[in-house]
Amino acid sequence: MKEKLTVCGAGLAGCEAAWQAAERGVPVRLIEMKPNKYTPAHHVPGFAELVCSNSLRSDRTTNAVGLLKEELHRLGSLIMQAAYASRVPAGSALAVDRVEFSNYITDHIKSHPNIEVISQEVTSVDDDGITVIATGPLTSDAMADYIRDTLGCGGLHFFDAAAPIVDAASINMDVAYFGSRYDKGDADYINCPMNREQYDAFYNALVTAREAELKDFDRETQREIQVFEGCMPVEIMARRGYDTLRYGPLKPVGLVDKRTGEEAYAVVQLRKENVAGTMYNLVGFQTHLAFPEQKRVFGMIPGLENAEFLRYGIMHRNTYLNSPGLLGADYSLLARPEVYFAGQMTGVEGYIESAGSGFVAGLSAARAFLGQEKLIFPETTMLGAMAGYVSRGGVGKFVPMNANFGIIEPLGRRVKGGKIAKYEAIAARSLEQIDSIKNIIV
Ligand SMILES: Cc1cc2nc3c(=O)[nH]c(=O)nc-3n(C[C@H](O)[C@H](O)[C@H](O)COP(=O)(O)OP(=O)(O)OC[C@H]3O[C@@H](n4cnc5c(N)ncnc54)[C@H](O)[C@@H]3O)c2cc1C
Repeated sequence: MKEKLTVCGAGLAGCEAAWQAAERGVPVRLIEMKPNKYTPAHHVPGFAELVCSNSLRSDRTTNAVGLLKEELHRLGSLIMQAAYASRVPAGSALAVDRVEFSNYITDHIKSHPNIEVISQEVTSVDDDGITVIATGPLTSDAMADYIRDTLGCGGLHFFDAAAPIVDAASINMDVAYFGSRYDKGDADYINCPMNREQYDAFYNALVTAREAELKDFDRETQREIQVFEGCMPVEIMARRGYDTLRYGPLKPVGLVDKRTGEEAYAVVQLRKENVAGTMYNLVGFQTHLAFPEQKRVFGMIPGLENAEFLRYGIMHRNTYLNSPGLLGADYSLLARPEVYFAGQMTGVEGYIESAGSGFVAGLSAARAFLGQEKLIFPETTMLGAMAGYVSRGGVGKFVPMNANFGIIEPLGRRVKGGKIAKYEAIAARSLEQIDSIKNIIV
Protein backbone atom coordinates (compact mmCIF):
# COMPACT_ATOMS: atom_id res chain seq x y z
CA MET A 1 0.00 0.00 0.00
CA LYS A 2 1.39 3.42 -0.99
CA GLU A 3 1.66 5.96 1.80
CA LYS A 4 -0.29 8.57 -0.19
CA LEU A 5 -3.67 8.71 -1.87
CA THR A 6 -3.36 9.86 -5.48
CA VAL A 7 -5.80 12.21 -7.19
CA CYS A 8 -5.40 12.71 -10.96
CA GLY A 9 -6.61 16.05 -12.36
CA ALA A 10 -7.03 19.34 -10.46
CA GLY A 11 -10.39 20.33 -11.92
CA LEU A 12 -13.62 20.79 -9.99
CA ALA A 13 -13.89 17.13 -9.02
CA GLY A 14 -10.18 16.49 -8.38
CA CYS A 15 -9.74 19.55 -6.15
CA GLU A 16 -12.82 18.68 -4.10
CA ALA A 17 -11.70 15.03 -3.79
CA ALA A 18 -8.15 15.97 -2.77
CA TRP A 19 -9.43 18.54 -0.26
CA GLN A 20 -11.89 16.15 1.40
CA ALA A 21 -9.23 13.47 1.80
CA ALA A 22 -6.60 15.93 3.05
CA GLU A 23 -9.02 17.46 5.55
CA ARG A 24 -9.45 13.99 7.05
CA GLY A 25 -5.72 13.66 7.64
CA VAL A 26 -4.94 11.60 4.53
CA PRO A 27 -1.69 12.48 2.73
CA VAL A 28 -2.63 13.30 -0.88
CA ARG A 29 -0.65 13.50 -4.11
CA LEU A 30 -2.58 15.67 -6.59
CA ILE A 31 -1.29 15.31 -10.16
CA GLU A 32 -2.32 17.91 -12.76
CA MET A 33 -0.88 18.19 -16.27
CA LYS A 34 -1.27 21.98 -16.48
CA PRO A 35 0.82 24.08 -17.10
CA ASN A 36 2.92 21.51 -19.03
CA LYS A 37 0.00 20.48 -21.17
CA TYR A 38 -3.48 21.94 -21.74
CA THR A 39 -6.72 20.42 -23.00
CA PRO A 40 -8.31 22.35 -25.92
CA ALA A 41 -10.66 24.17 -23.49
CA HIS A 42 -8.31 24.94 -20.57
CA HIS A 43 -6.15 28.04 -20.88
CA VAL A 44 -4.82 29.13 -17.48
CA PRO A 45 -2.51 27.35 -15.02
CA GLY A 46 -4.82 27.68 -11.98
CA PHE A 47 -6.92 24.79 -10.68
CA ALA A 48 -10.71 24.30 -11.02
CA GLU A 49 -10.85 26.32 -14.23
CA LEU A 50 -14.41 27.05 -15.40
CA VAL A 51 -14.12 26.43 -19.13
CA CYS A 52 -17.43 27.94 -20.27
CA SER A 53 -20.17 29.76 -18.34
CA ASN A 54 -19.27 31.46 -15.05
CA SER A 55 -22.67 30.55 -13.65
CA LEU A 56 -23.01 27.75 -11.09
CA ARG A 57 -26.77 27.99 -11.66
CA SER A 58 -29.64 28.44 -9.20
CA ASP A 59 -29.04 29.20 -5.58
CA ARG A 60 -32.42 28.02 -4.29
CA THR A 61 -32.94 24.69 -2.56
CA THR A 62 -36.24 24.29 -4.45
CA ASN A 63 -34.02 23.84 -7.50
CA ALA A 64 -32.12 20.55 -7.79
CA VAL A 65 -28.69 22.05 -8.33
CA GLY A 66 -29.42 24.62 -5.61
CA LEU A 67 -30.11 21.75 -3.22
CA LEU A 68 -26.90 20.03 -4.29
CA LYS A 69 -24.99 23.24 -3.56
CA GLU A 70 -26.50 23.50 -0.08
CA GLU A 71 -25.65 19.84 0.65
CA LEU A 72 -22.06 20.44 -0.40
CA HIS A 73 -21.85 23.71 1.49
CA ARG A 74 -23.04 22.08 4.73
CA LEU A 75 -20.54 19.25 4.31
CA GLY A 76 -17.59 21.63 3.99
CA SER A 77 -17.01 21.67 0.24
CA LEU A 78 -13.98 23.67 -0.94
CA ILE A 79 -15.66 24.43 -4.27
CA MET A 80 -18.65 25.99 -2.49
CA GLN A 81 -16.39 28.02 -0.18
CA ALA A 82 -14.63 29.36 -3.26
CA ALA A 83 -17.93 30.08 -5.03
CA TYR A 84 -19.29 32.20 -2.18
CA ALA A 85 -15.95 33.99 -1.84
CA SER A 86 -15.85 34.94 -5.55
CA ARG A 87 -19.55 35.57 -6.21
CA VAL A 88 -20.66 38.17 -8.78
CA PRO A 89 -24.24 39.53 -8.92
CA ALA A 90 -26.47 37.40 -11.19
CA GLY A 91 -30.04 37.52 -9.87
CA SER A 92 -31.04 34.24 -8.26
CA ALA A 93 -28.12 32.40 -9.85
CA LEU A 94 -24.75 31.87 -8.18
CA ALA A 95 -22.23 33.23 -10.69
CA VAL A 96 -18.56 33.71 -9.93
CA ASP A 97 -15.52 35.67 -11.02
CA ARG A 98 -13.71 32.73 -12.61
CA VAL A 99 -10.22 34.07 -11.87
CA GLU A 100 -10.93 34.68 -8.18
CA PHE A 101 -12.71 31.33 -7.96
CA SER A 102 -9.74 29.45 -9.37
CA ASN A 103 -7.20 31.46 -7.32
CA TYR A 104 -9.07 30.71 -4.09
CA ILE A 105 -9.03 26.97 -4.79
CA THR A 106 -5.45 26.89 -6.06
CA ASP A 107 -4.16 28.77 -3.00
CA HIS A 108 -6.06 26.55 -0.56
CA ILE A 109 -4.91 23.33 -2.24
CA LYS A 110 -1.28 24.41 -2.56
CA SER A 111 -1.04 25.57 1.04
CA HIS A 112 -2.70 22.48 2.56
CA PRO A 113 -0.08 20.62 4.62
CA ASN A 114 -1.43 17.21 3.53
CA ILE A 115 -1.43 17.90 -0.22
CA GLU A 116 1.56 17.53 -2.51
CA VAL A 117 0.96 18.97 -6.00
CA ILE A 118 2.76 17.42 -8.97
CA SER A 119 2.68 18.95 -12.49
CA GLN A 120 2.66 15.98 -14.82
CA GLU A 121 0.39 14.18 -17.28
CA VAL A 122 -0.91 10.94 -15.78
CA THR A 123 -0.96 8.04 -18.24
CA SER A 124 -1.53 5.10 -15.83
CA VAL A 125 -2.29 4.45 -12.16
CA ASP A 126 -0.28 2.55 -9.55
CA ASP A 127 -1.30 -1.03 -8.83
CA ASP A 128 -0.71 -0.79 -5.12
CA GLY A 129 -2.31 2.47 -4.04
CA ILE A 130 -5.69 4.17 -3.82
CA THR A 131 -6.36 6.51 -6.75
CA VAL A 132 -9.12 8.93 -7.73
CA ILE A 133 -9.22 9.62 -11.49
CA ALA A 134 -10.74 13.03 -12.15
CA THR A 135 -9.19 14.01 -15.46
CA GLY A 136 -12.44 15.38 -16.82
CA PRO A 137 -14.36 15.40 -20.07
CA LEU A 138 -11.22 16.36 -21.99
CA THR A 139 -8.95 13.73 -20.45
CA SER A 140 -5.68 13.59 -22.39
CA ASP A 141 -5.55 10.96 -25.13
CA ALA A 142 -2.91 8.77 -23.45
CA MET A 143 -4.92 8.62 -20.22
CA ALA A 144 -8.18 8.01 -22.12
CA ASP A 145 -6.48 5.07 -23.89
CA TYR A 146 -5.29 3.70 -20.56
CA ILE A 147 -8.77 3.99 -19.01
CA ARG A 148 -10.35 2.28 -21.99
CA ASP A 149 -7.78 -0.43 -22.71
CA THR A 150 -6.12 -1.25 -19.38
CA LEU A 151 -8.88 -0.43 -16.91
CA GLY A 152 -11.38 -1.89 -19.38
CA CYS A 153 -13.85 0.98 -19.11
CA GLY A 154 -14.80 1.69 -22.70
CA GLY A 155 -15.52 5.30 -23.57
CA LEU A 156 -18.18 7.44 -25.13
CA HIS A 157 -17.87 10.82 -26.74
CA PHE A 158 -20.18 13.69 -27.38
CA PHE A 159 -19.76 17.37 -28.09
CA ASP A 160 -19.93 20.29 -25.71
CA ALA A 161 -19.76 23.99 -26.48
CA ALA A 162 -18.73 27.28 -24.79
CA ALA A 163 -20.16 30.81 -25.25
CA PRO A 164 -18.18 33.90 -26.38
CA ILE A 165 -17.13 36.69 -24.01
CA VAL A 166 -17.09 40.38 -25.01
CA ASP A 167 -15.44 43.48 -23.60
CA ALA A 168 -18.10 45.44 -21.65
CA ALA A 169 -16.71 48.77 -22.82
CA SER A 170 -17.38 47.79 -26.44
CA ILE A 171 -21.13 47.23 -25.91
CA ASN A 172 -23.28 50.06 -27.26
CA MET A 173 -25.35 51.06 -24.20
CA ASP A 174 -27.39 53.54 -26.26
CA VAL A 175 -29.04 50.42 -27.67
CA ALA A 176 -28.54 47.82 -24.91
CA TYR A 177 -29.79 48.32 -21.35
CA PHE A 178 -29.35 46.85 -17.87
CA GLY A 179 -32.22 44.86 -16.40
CA SER A 180 -33.35 41.50 -15.06
CA ARG A 181 -36.37 39.47 -16.07
CA TYR A 182 -39.54 40.66 -14.31
CA ASP A 183 -37.26 43.17 -12.49
CA LYS A 184 -36.31 40.40 -10.04
CA GLY A 185 -33.26 41.24 -7.91
CA ASP A 186 -30.71 43.73 -9.22
CA ALA A 187 -30.46 44.74 -12.88
CA ASP A 188 -27.53 42.40 -13.39
CA TYR A 189 -27.86 41.55 -17.07
CA ILE A 190 -27.15 43.63 -20.16
CA ASN A 191 -30.04 43.18 -22.59
CA CYS A 192 -29.81 43.62 -26.35
CA PRO A 193 -33.36 44.07 -27.72
CA MET A 194 -34.29 43.09 -31.29
CA ASN A 195 -37.30 44.07 -33.33
CA ARG A 196 -38.79 41.58 -35.80
CA GLU A 197 -36.73 42.81 -38.74
CA GLN A 198 -33.49 42.59 -36.80
CA TYR A 199 -34.37 39.12 -35.52
CA ASP A 200 -35.16 37.92 -39.07
CA ALA A 201 -31.81 39.14 -40.38
CA PHE A 202 -29.92 37.66 -37.40
CA TYR A 203 -31.79 34.36 -37.61
CA ASN A 204 -31.12 33.93 -41.33
CA ALA A 205 -27.43 34.74 -40.88
CA LEU A 206 -27.13 32.34 -37.94
CA VAL A 207 -28.68 29.28 -39.58
CA THR A 208 -26.53 29.69 -42.69
CA ALA A 209 -23.25 30.67 -40.99
CA ARG A 210 -20.14 28.58 -41.52
CA GLU A 211 -19.14 26.18 -38.73
CA ALA A 212 -15.56 25.48 -37.68
CA GLU A 213 -14.06 22.26 -39.01
CA LEU A 214 -14.25 19.11 -36.90
CA LYS A 215 -10.58 18.23 -37.32
CA ASP A 216 -10.01 15.95 -34.40
CA PHE A 217 -12.73 13.44 -34.87
CA ASP A 218 -12.81 10.29 -36.92
CA ARG A 219 -15.91 9.02 -38.69
CA GLU A 220 -16.88 6.63 -35.92
CA THR A 221 -16.73 9.34 -33.26
CA GLN A 222 -18.77 11.64 -35.47
CA ARG A 223 -21.45 9.00 -35.77
CA GLU A 224 -21.69 8.97 -31.99
CA ILE A 225 -22.15 12.72 -31.78
CA GLN A 226 -24.91 13.74 -29.47
CA VAL A 227 -25.53 17.33 -28.58
CA PHE A 228 -26.32 17.57 -24.92
CA GLU A 229 -29.43 19.74 -24.49
CA GLY A 230 -27.94 21.79 -21.63
CA CYS A 231 -25.03 22.99 -23.77
CA MET A 232 -26.51 22.97 -27.27
CA PRO A 233 -24.80 25.27 -29.78
CA VAL A 234 -27.00 28.28 -30.55
CA GLU A 235 -26.85 27.65 -34.31
CA ILE A 236 -28.12 24.07 -33.86
CA MET A 237 -30.93 25.28 -31.62
CA ALA A 238 -31.84 27.92 -34.22
CA ARG A 239 -32.03 25.29 -36.96
CA ARG A 240 -34.80 23.55 -35.03
CA GLY A 241 -37.19 26.33 -35.99
CA TYR A 242 -37.66 30.06 -36.43
CA ASP A 243 -39.11 30.58 -32.95
CA THR A 244 -36.96 28.13 -30.97
CA LEU A 245 -34.53 30.84 -29.82
CA ARG A 246 -37.40 33.18 -28.93
CA TYR A 247 -38.67 30.52 -26.53
CA GLY A 248 -35.14 29.77 -25.34
CA PRO A 249 -32.14 32.05 -24.73
CA LEU A 250 -33.65 34.99 -26.66
CA LYS A 251 -36.95 34.93 -24.75
CA PRO A 252 -38.22 38.54 -24.46
CA VAL A 253 -40.92 37.82 -21.83
CA GLY A 254 -40.56 39.91 -18.65
CA LEU A 255 -37.81 42.11 -20.12
CA VAL A 256 -39.23 45.59 -20.50
CA ASP A 257 -36.97 48.33 -21.84
CA LYS A 258 -37.71 51.14 -19.36
CA ARG A 259 -36.71 53.75 -21.94
CA THR A 260 -39.59 52.73 -24.22
CA GLY A 261 -41.81 50.77 -21.83
CA GLU A 262 -41.92 47.97 -24.41
CA GLU A 263 -41.06 44.30 -24.61
CA ALA A 264 -38.91 43.57 -27.67
CA TYR A 265 -39.47 40.78 -30.24
CA ALA A 266 -36.38 38.96 -28.96
CA VAL A 267 -33.67 39.81 -26.41
CA VAL A 268 -30.08 38.61 -26.14
CA GLN A 269 -28.87 38.69 -22.53
CA LEU A 270 -25.29 39.14 -21.42
CA ARG A 271 -24.10 38.11 -17.98
CA LYS A 272 -21.20 39.53 -15.96
CA GLU A 273 -18.06 37.48 -16.34
CA ASN A 274 -16.02 39.13 -13.56
CA VAL A 275 -16.64 41.17 -10.40
CA ALA A 276 -15.35 44.34 -12.04
CA GLY A 277 -17.98 43.95 -14.77
CA THR A 278 -15.46 44.52 -17.54
CA MET A 279 -16.36 41.30 -19.38
CA TYR A 280 -19.74 39.84 -20.28
CA ASN A 281 -20.70 36.48 -21.78
CA LEU A 282 -23.56 35.93 -24.20
CA VAL A 283 -26.02 33.77 -22.27
CA GLY A 284 -26.93 30.59 -24.16
CA PHE A 285 -24.58 31.36 -27.06
CA GLN A 286 -22.40 28.25 -26.90
CA THR A 287 -21.33 27.84 -30.48
CA HIS A 288 -19.30 25.97 -33.00
CA LEU A 289 -19.26 28.71 -35.65
CA ALA A 290 -15.92 29.67 -37.20
CA PHE A 291 -14.42 32.67 -35.35
CA PRO A 292 -14.88 35.23 -38.21
CA GLU A 293 -18.49 34.06 -38.53
CA GLN A 294 -19.05 34.64 -34.81
CA LYS A 295 -17.80 38.20 -35.21
CA ARG A 296 -20.01 38.76 -38.27
CA VAL A 297 -23.22 37.09 -37.04
CA PHE A 298 -23.10 38.04 -33.34
CA GLY A 299 -22.09 41.55 -34.44
CA MET A 300 -25.60 41.79 -35.95
CA ILE A 301 -27.07 41.75 -32.43
CA PRO A 302 -28.19 45.33 -31.66
CA GLY A 303 -25.67 46.81 -29.20
CA LEU A 304 -22.90 44.42 -30.25
CA GLU A 305 -22.14 46.10 -33.61
CA ASN A 306 -18.63 46.99 -32.43
CA ALA A 307 -18.26 44.37 -29.71
CA GLU A 308 -14.73 43.26 -29.03
CA PHE A 309 -14.65 39.49 -28.59
CA LEU A 310 -12.27 38.61 -25.77
CA ARG A 311 -12.88 34.90 -26.29
CA TYR A 312 -14.79 33.21 -29.08
CA GLY A 313 -17.15 30.31 -28.45
CA ILE A 314 -15.69 26.82 -28.83
CA MET A 315 -16.85 23.24 -29.15
CA HIS A 316 -15.08 20.13 -27.96
CA ARG A 317 -15.17 16.43 -27.47
CA ASN A 318 -16.53 15.31 -24.12
CA THR A 319 -15.50 11.90 -22.77
CA TYR A 320 -17.48 9.95 -20.23
CA LEU A 321 -17.66 6.35 -19.05
CA ASN A 322 -20.57 4.04 -19.58
CA SER A 323 -20.69 3.96 -15.78
CA PRO A 324 -23.67 1.71 -14.90
CA GLY A 325 -22.23 -1.70 -14.05
CA LEU A 326 -18.67 -0.27 -14.08
CA LEU A 327 -18.83 2.00 -11.01
CA GLY A 328 -20.34 1.54 -7.57
CA ALA A 329 -22.38 4.19 -5.73
CA ASP A 330 -19.16 5.32 -4.01
CA TYR A 331 -17.67 5.92 -7.52
CA SER A 332 -15.21 3.01 -7.14
CA LEU A 333 -14.44 0.84 -10.15
CA LEU A 334 -16.14 -2.48 -9.38
CA ALA A 335 -13.40 -4.51 -11.06
CA ARG A 336 -10.64 -2.62 -9.18
CA PRO A 337 -12.16 -1.14 -6.02
CA GLU A 338 -9.00 0.79 -5.11
CA VAL A 339 -9.57 2.95 -8.21
CA TYR A 340 -12.24 5.67 -7.99
CA PHE A 341 -13.57 7.97 -10.72
CA ALA A 342 -14.92 11.48 -10.16
CA GLY A 343 -16.32 14.37 -12.14
CA GLN A 344 -17.87 14.76 -15.52
CA MET A 345 -16.25 11.58 -16.85
CA THR A 346 -18.48 9.48 -14.55
CA GLY A 347 -21.60 10.74 -16.34
CA VAL A 348 -22.61 13.54 -14.02
CA GLU A 349 -23.07 16.75 -15.99
CA GLY A 350 -22.14 20.25 -14.81
CA TYR A 351 -19.68 22.09 -12.61
CA ILE A 352 -21.42 21.51 -9.29
CA GLU A 353 -22.36 17.95 -10.16
CA SER A 354 -18.68 17.30 -10.93
CA ALA A 355 -17.65 18.82 -7.61
CA GLY A 356 -20.35 16.72 -5.91
CA SER A 357 -19.07 13.47 -7.33
CA GLY A 358 -15.55 14.60 -6.38
CA PHE A 359 -16.77 15.08 -2.84
CA VAL A 360 -18.23 11.57 -2.60
CA ALA A 361 -15.32 9.88 -4.42
CA GLY A 362 -12.72 11.76 -2.35
CA LEU A 363 -14.50 10.97 0.91
CA SER A 364 -14.93 7.30 -0.06
CA ALA A 365 -11.29 6.95 -1.10
CA ALA A 366 -10.17 8.61 2.15
CA ARG A 367 -12.32 6.25 4.21
CA ALA A 368 -10.84 3.26 2.37
CA PHE A 369 -7.33 4.65 2.95
CA LEU A 370 -8.06 5.02 6.68
CA GLY A 371 -9.60 1.54 6.88
CA GLN A 372 -13.05 2.96 7.68
CA GLU A 373 -16.39 1.47 6.67
CA LYS A 374 -17.84 2.28 3.23
CA LEU A 375 -20.41 5.10 3.30
CA ILE A 376 -23.08 5.23 0.61
CA PHE A 377 -25.07 8.45 0.50
CA PRO A 378 -28.85 7.79 0.69
CA GLU A 379 -30.75 8.51 -2.52
CA THR A 380 -32.96 10.91 -0.60
CA THR A 381 -30.03 13.35 -0.94
CA MET A 382 -28.99 14.85 -4.27
CA LEU A 383 -25.42 13.59 -3.75
CA GLY A 384 -26.73 10.06 -3.24
CA ALA A 385 -29.25 10.33 -6.10
CA MET A 386 -26.49 11.29 -8.53
CA ALA A 387 -24.26 8.43 -7.36
CA GLY A 388 -27.24 6.08 -7.75
CA TYR A 389 -27.90 7.31 -11.28
CA VAL A 390 -24.26 6.90 -12.29
CA SER A 391 -23.94 3.39 -10.89
CA ARG A 392 -27.29 2.10 -12.13
CA GLY A 393 -28.21 4.36 -15.08
CA GLY A 394 -31.72 5.10 -16.20
CA VAL A 395 -33.86 3.72 -18.97
CA GLY A 396 -32.11 3.16 -22.32
CA LYS A 397 -28.68 4.45 -23.31
CA PHE A 398 -26.66 6.01 -20.48
CA VAL A 399 -26.33 9.78 -20.97
CA PRO A 400 -24.74 12.40 -18.72
CA MET A 401 -27.20 13.94 -16.32
CA ASN A 402 -27.53 17.22 -14.42
CA ALA A 403 -28.82 17.15 -10.85
CA ASN A 404 -32.62 16.99 -11.03
CA PHE A 405 -35.56 16.03 -8.84
CA GLY A 406 -36.42 13.14 -11.16
CA ILE A 407 -33.50 11.03 -9.87
CA ILE A 408 -34.01 11.63 -6.13
CA GLU A 409 -36.05 9.11 -4.12
CA PRO A 410 -39.72 10.15 -4.22
CA LEU A 411 -41.25 11.55 -1.03
CA GLY A 412 -43.82 8.75 -0.88
CA ARG A 413 -46.54 11.11 0.35
CA ARG A 414 -48.61 13.91 -1.13
CA VAL A 415 -47.69 17.48 -0.30
CA LYS A 416 -50.25 20.27 -0.51
CA GLY A 417 -49.17 23.50 -2.22
CA GLY A 418 -47.92 22.36 -5.63
CA LYS A 419 -44.46 21.71 -7.06
CA ILE A 420 -42.53 24.24 -4.97
CA ALA A 421 -44.00 22.89 -1.71
CA LYS A 422 -43.04 19.37 -2.84
CA TYR A 423 -39.45 20.46 -3.62
CA GLU A 424 -39.27 22.24 -0.27
CA ALA A 425 -40.23 18.99 1.47
CA ILE A 426 -37.67 17.01 -0.55
CA ALA A 427 -34.99 19.58 0.29
CA ALA A 428 -35.86 19.55 4.01
CA ARG A 429 -35.68 15.74 4.06
CA SER A 430 -32.33 15.77 2.29
CA LEU A 431 -30.74 18.46 4.44
CA GLU A 432 -31.78 16.70 7.63
CA GLN A 433 -29.93 13.61 6.43
CA ILE A 434 -26.94 15.63 5.31
CA ASP A 435 -26.70 17.13 8.81
CA SER A 436 -26.57 13.67 10.34
CA ILE A 437 -24.03 12.43 7.78
CA LYS A 438 -21.91 15.45 8.63
CA ASN A 439 -21.61 14.19 12.19
CA ILE A 440 -20.45 10.76 10.99
CA ILE A 441 -17.81 11.93 8.55
CA VAL A 442 -15.98 14.59 10.56
C1 LIG B 1 -16.19 22.97 -23.53
C2 LIG B 1 -16.96 22.65 -22.28
C3 LIG B 1 -17.86 23.57 -21.77
C4 LIG B 1 -18.59 23.28 -20.60
N1 LIG B 1 -19.43 24.21 -20.11
C5 LIG B 1 -20.08 24.01 -18.95
C6 LIG B 1 -20.91 25.03 -18.38
O1 LIG B 1 -21.05 26.10 -18.94
N2 LIG B 1 -21.55 24.77 -17.22
C7 LIG B 1 -21.40 23.59 -16.58
O2 LIG B 1 -21.99 23.43 -15.50
N3 LIG B 1 -20.63 22.61 -17.08
C8 LIG B 1 -19.97 22.79 -18.25
N4 LIG B 1 -19.17 21.80 -18.80
C9 LIG B 1 -19.19 20.45 -18.19
C10 LIG B 1 -18.40 20.22 -16.88
O3 LIG B 1 -19.15 20.69 -15.82
C11 LIG B 1 -17.05 20.83 -16.81
O4 LIG B 1 -16.30 20.27 -17.85
C12 LIG B 1 -16.34 20.57 -15.45
O5 LIG B 1 -15.19 21.34 -15.42
C13 LIG B 1 -16.00 19.11 -15.22
O6 LIG B 1 -15.26 18.97 -14.03
P1 LIG B 1 -14.14 17.84 -13.90
O7 LIG B 1 -13.48 18.04 -12.60
O8 LIG B 1 -14.74 16.53 -14.20
O9 LIG B 1 -13.12 18.14 -15.09
P2 LIG B 1 -12.20 19.42 -15.33
O10 LIG B 1 -12.71 20.58 -14.57
O11 LIG B 1 -12.06 19.52 -16.80
O12 LIG B 1 -10.81 19.00 -14.70
C14 LIG B 1 -10.00 18.01 -15.24
C15 LIG B 1 -8.55 18.39 -14.99
O13 LIG B 1 -7.73 17.26 -15.33
C16 LIG B 1 -6.62 17.70 -16.08
N5 LIG B 1 -6.16 16.56 -16.90
C17 LIG B 1 -6.71 16.04 -18.02
N6 LIG B 1 -6.03 14.94 -18.40
C18 LIG B 1 -5.02 14.77 -17.51
C19 LIG B 1 -3.98 13.83 -17.36
N7 LIG B 1 -3.84 12.79 -18.19
N8 LIG B 1 -3.11 13.96 -16.33
C20 LIG B 1 -3.24 15.01 -15.45
N9 LIG B 1 -4.20 15.94 -15.55
C21 LIG B 1 -5.09 15.82 -16.55
C22 LIG B 1 -7.12 18.89 -16.87
O14 LIG B 1 -6.06 19.74 -17.23
C23 LIG B 1 -8.09 19.54 -15.86
O15 LIG B 1 -7.45 20.50 -15.06
C24 LIG B 1 -18.42 22.05 -19.95
C25 LIG B 1 -17.52 21.11 -20.47
C26 LIG B 1 -16.79 21.41 -21.60
C27 LIG B 1 -15.82 20.41 -22.12
